[in-house]
Amino acid sequence: MKLGPNLTLGKAFGIDILLHWSFFLLPLLVILLSVTQGDSLGVTGLWVVLLLVILASVLWHEMGHALVARRLGIPILDIMLTPICGLARLARAPDSPRDEVLVALAGPLANGVLAALCGLLIWATGREFATEPDAFPGDLLLTLFWIQTALFALNLLPIFPMDGGRVLRAILAMRLNGSRATELAARLGQTVSLVAAILGLVYRFYPLTIIAVFLMLTAEQEIRQHRLYPDK
Ligand SMILES: [Zn+2]
Repeated sequence: MKLGPNLTLGKAFGIDILLHWSFFLLPLLVILLSVTQGDSLGVTGLWVVLLLVILASVLWHEMGHALVARRLGIPILDIMLTPICGLARLARAPDSPRDEVLVALAGPLANGVLAALCGLLIWATGREFATEPDAFPGDLLLTLFWIQTALFALNLLPIFPMDGGRVLRAILAMRLNGSRATELAARLGQTVSLVAAILGLVYRFYPLTIIAVFLMLTAEQEIRQHRLYPDK
């Protein structure tokens, strides 16, 4: 374990796993919210466990991207985990739109496989899929099933720079040139994100607004990058 701006958690399949320093704000926030709500120490502990399960699920998702990319001959720099997302950092972009689709789909598919396995276990033991909300986060199998299902479904939404948006960009790039495809996919993603950000404000579900604004800014950055390096 190496200390620095990023904490190196270790290696998996020869890939460095880094935790961005700001990640620690998340457990602090969860503990603070739980304590101010008057939760018992046990309940606060369960929320922290839930956070760790989410972190492990995001890592599993990024591992899917990284292992498929490496199989396609793309070197992997590392996997970075931040409070909002995970990122498998590739040494270069995939060579073709087809490879781009494969790398983009690998993350959600990793979650889909785990969701199916958990679902099978829940079904085989004759348990209910939907229980009272307070069954979470204590019921680990059920929690894991819903987290994997959510990561699978949300990441496939065609909102660039999410995986579904990258698949859309790659499909567009089969017909248009690379930067035109990126711009189109990114602008479409930004429009959907803007609607989500406004809905978050209207319904006072602020995490949605924060994530939507983050996605809009990341999409903007990608458009600029593709203008600088148009043929990628
Ligand atoms: Zn992904």
